[in-house]
Amino acid sequence: MCDVEVLASMIKSCNRCDLALNRKGAVPGEGPIGARILLVGQAPFDAEQINGRPFWGVTGSFLRYLLGRGGVKFYDCWRTNLLKCPLPRYGRPKWRQVYACLPYLKEELRLVRPGIIVPLGKWATKGIMHLFGIPRPEKNSMIPQMFGKPLYVEDYIVFPLPHPASLIYKSTLWNPTVDLFEGFGEFLSRELN
Ligand code: URA
Repeated sequence: MCDVEVLASMIKSCNRCDLALNRKGAVPGEGPIGARILLVGQAPFDAEQINGRPFWGVTGSFLRYLLGRGGVKFYDCWRTNLLKCPLPRYGRPKWRQVYACLPYLKEELRLVRPGIIVPLGKWATKGIMHLFGIPRPEKNSMIPQMFGKPLYVEDYIVFPLPHPASLIYKSTLWNPTVDLFEGFGEFLSRELN
């Protein structure tokens, strides 16, 4: 058990997996303690390890825009990642890296106490499902079917949404992604107000 600053310095000096070998800096989560929403990305991008802040690059701009479409303010949310170190170029997370990093996310949940967890993209969704012992679909390709559908787990609502970085590579995803983030905003006003 620790506080936010201690947790951040543990993350910055972590060497629990091979991603520590080539990183320039690890990227702890940030935001207001007590935030209602905790956003979970996959891993920081290369540039973000320099200033040590999650969602600081173009993906962050997309995320701020998309959240705004649902009436959610990025800076009201706690922002973090499944993995706190960048992946090698074009790399995908490995389960051993996820297992090594999950205790940090667990500690963030304990410190921030959000009501709603929003995993962004396939890997963050799989990681959160693993954390709560939720059985995962057999095939990765089935994860996107979970986007936009709330799961009620322990004291949390888990609301998976697509990762904004997918919009960089596939512009045809813009409209369905905007619809899902707007749906998240509608869910919030329907269920929680
Ligand atoms: N930046 C982050 O912090 N996380 C992502 O998943 C992508 C970019």
